[in-house]
Amino acid sequence: MSYPQSPLPRSPLMGQMMNQPLLVSSIIEFAARHFGNSEIVSRRVEGDIHRYTYRECHQRARRLANALQGLGIEIGDRVATLAWNGYRHLEAYYAVSGSGAVLHTINPRLHPDQIAYIINHAEDQVLLFDLTFLPAVEAVAAQCKQIKTYVLMCGRDRMPAETRVANLLCYEDLIDSHSDDYAWPRFDENSACTLCYTSGTTGNPKGALYSHRSTVLHAYASAMPGALNVSAKDTVLPVVPMFHVNAWGLPYSVPLSGAKLVFPGAALDGKSVYELFESEKVTFSAGVPTVWLGLINYATQNKLKFSTFRRTVIGGSACPPAMMNALIDEFDVEVVHAWGMTEMSPLGTACMLQAKHAELPREEQRKILQKQGHAVYGVDMKIVDDDGKELPWDGSSYGHLLVKGPWIISSYYKEEGGDPLQDGWFPTGDVATIDPDGYMQITDRSKDVIKSGGEWIGTIDLENIATAHPAVMQAACIGVAHPKWDERPLLVVVVRPGMAVSREELLKFYEGKIAKWWLPDDVVFADTLPLGGTGKVQKNKLRELYKEHKLPTA
Ligand code: ADP
Repeated sequence: MSYPQSPLPRSPLMGQMMNQPLLVSSIIEFAARHFGNSEIVSRRVEGDIHRYTYRECHQRARRLANALQGLGIEIGDRVATLAWNGYRHLEAYYAVSGSGAVLHTINPRLHPDQIAYIINHAEDQVLLFDLTFLPAVEAVAAQCKQIKTYVLMCGRDRMPAETRVANLLCYEDLIDSHSDDYAWPRFDENSACTLCYTSGTTGNPKGALYSHRSTVLHAYASAMPGALNVSAKDTVLPVVPMFHVNAWGLPYSVPLSGAKLVFPGAALDGKSVYELFESEKVTFSAGVPTVWLGLINYATQNKLKFSTFRRTVIGGSACPPAMMNALIDEFDVEVVHAWGMTEMSPLGTACMLQAKHAELPREEQRKILQKQGHAVYGVDMKIVDDDGKELPWDGSSYGHLLVKGPWIISSYYKEEGGDPLQDGWFPTGDVATIDPDGYMQITDRSKDVIKSGGEWIGTIDLENIATAHPAVMQAACIGVAHPKWDERPLLVVVVRPGMAVSREELLKFYEGKIAKWWLPDDVVFADTLPLGGTGKVQKNKLRELYKEHKLPTA
């Protein structure tokens, strides 16, 4: 167990500043007091638009905190949510963690067995959920013996007449029947705040247990201009779900900045998101590439532009250059490519040009913007070879990416998987280069790298070239067994509706863009790519699907 850390030496002269613990309750308290009139707008699961202010959010969060106390929830107890991005979910974020309990956000896209596994693993006592997930909860409830109370996040009129879920309460009844007379407790800032499980593509999911201190520091750092750059000038619509690494910290960094917050609920299709962007005058958003694909396609097909949307953060998987170019050149939207992971709260790097890049030709600037970016203060990183030897920051040496910092895990919840650290650094499982200016670029996940004749082929580059072809909507590259080279690249492509491209044309498209031996050995066409719970291509599924594929060169 790496907590508590060994006591550090004390100076004979200590600073004379107030020693206030960094607790997430202070964020909503601050937002309500200093930006009390700023709005939170939500597209509800019920279908309508709900709007209120930070002041009202704070009031209802305190009512909920009282209600949770009434349900017997104590400091350190786990309370789970299965919910979309919405105001009630935000209230739960603050009521649960603020009162000292631990908010466990569950990804509803996980397999029901995995949902039951993590509920039991976390020992959740209360589960708050959106109407959409009633069938999912009914399916797993019998397996979740520790849950004492279920709370359906809706009004009385939407409560089901009959359900298999025992001890089901109505969220709005709970809020109505409790007072907002509640003072946020003070406790050690290193106390657990939220719990997020990794998607567990291999083996069971593991929990990252964030502390109040790590969450507040991450919120400060991610709001900085060199990172997500959130301020009260903005209207922010987090497309990234609140069940995916706390929506990249936006439920904390937006309120502390006083910005208007807009929640899309369950409607994440291009049309619904576009309409909300326009009606609420959204200026800034964040999400994984697959959601931008839907939005860009919708806007392009309907010849629409954005009136206020000016900046977006794209991360979670590599942003294809074609997507970045479309957003910047056709829609006048600045793209901040960012990288991180569940184990990092999640923010690690964000990509922005520096003053010295201002005069560079557009193409050179784009090459920089394509990288995953610069470390955000608080995060340190290095690349090492297979023997753990540090590699130079020359932009071409690539190796295993290791990180450390106050919002990076020191161990998984319940010490699952043992000690993950290597000499105090967390191995990310990514392979990357770092250039002399400190810009990091992911070449691949180490488990996705193609090992051809003892050399590595990074799949992200190969996919980026394919998606630059006008007829290609999505592309994924995987290694397929080869008798001579061990593995060779196979490109799986989804063609844009109404367009066509042949295998030969695509392979020709690579010429001159990449070393010859990196060229994919074959191309297959698919209707869709398998996506995981967080919208990323599941390469393990693709590898399984095409493991018998016979390469022409084999
Ligand atoms: P999982 O996908 O396992 O649920 P995360 O959501 O934490 O876990 O994903 C973290 C991983 O996603 C990183 O280790 C990296 O491989 C990938 N990733 C995140 N952002 C980017 C990016 N901008 N470019 C390429 N890969 C990224």
